[in-house]
Amino acid sequence: MIDALVPDFLRALPAHTHTPCHRRSDLFTDKPGTGDDDPTAYAKALCEGCPIQRGCLDHAIRTGETRGIWGGLTPKERRARQRPDCGTERGWRSHLSRGESCLTCREAHDYRLREQRLARLSHEHTEHGGSLTGYRLELLLGLPTCVRCRQVRQAYYAGRPRAAKWYRRGMSAATAA
Ligand code: SF4
Ligand SMILES: [Zn+2]
Ligand SMILES: [Zn+2]
Repeated sequence: MIDALVPDFLRALPAHTHTPCHRRSDLFTDKPGTGDDDPTAYAKALCEGCPIQRGCLDHAIRTGETRGIWGGLTPKERRARQRPDCGTERGWRSHLSRGESCLTCREAHDYRLREQRLARLSHEHTEHGGSLTGYRLELLLGLPTCVRCRQVRQAYYAGRPRAAKWYRRGMSAATAA
């Protein structure tokens, strides 16, 4: 019955991941560490030594957990971290400049980036019938490269014989000297 209080997020962790709150479902109630003088300080101290503190905090902010200490922060402290522009590119940049990690913003950013690359790839195919850029985008997106982009790439490198490796190394050593 008590275990029902433990969030799914923690249940899903691999068996060997023992967080300080492991088997401590009381921590997710309003009275963590019952009997302790300062339950908040008690729970925060536990989180301090947790190997997944950052991810736990991300999870609590993303899912809007309203109770308990998560990732070392109280609900009020977590609300202060939650930006109104979370999920937007501005929110993502703002986290970056503060050195914060935010799963919502990172996922939204990755999604936008992928959409932009897919749109650019589609442009390369329709406007140019395949290109070197298209080839690089296909690799970046983890897609199989298409015949047309491969052909453009082959033609590009066929017309630009590359210097032998030993020669290039010699050149850079000479430049550095
Ligand atoms: S940060 Fe705190 S609440 Fe989160 S898993 Fe670790 S000990 Fe548990
Ligand atoms: Zn965010
Ligand atoms: Zn292509």
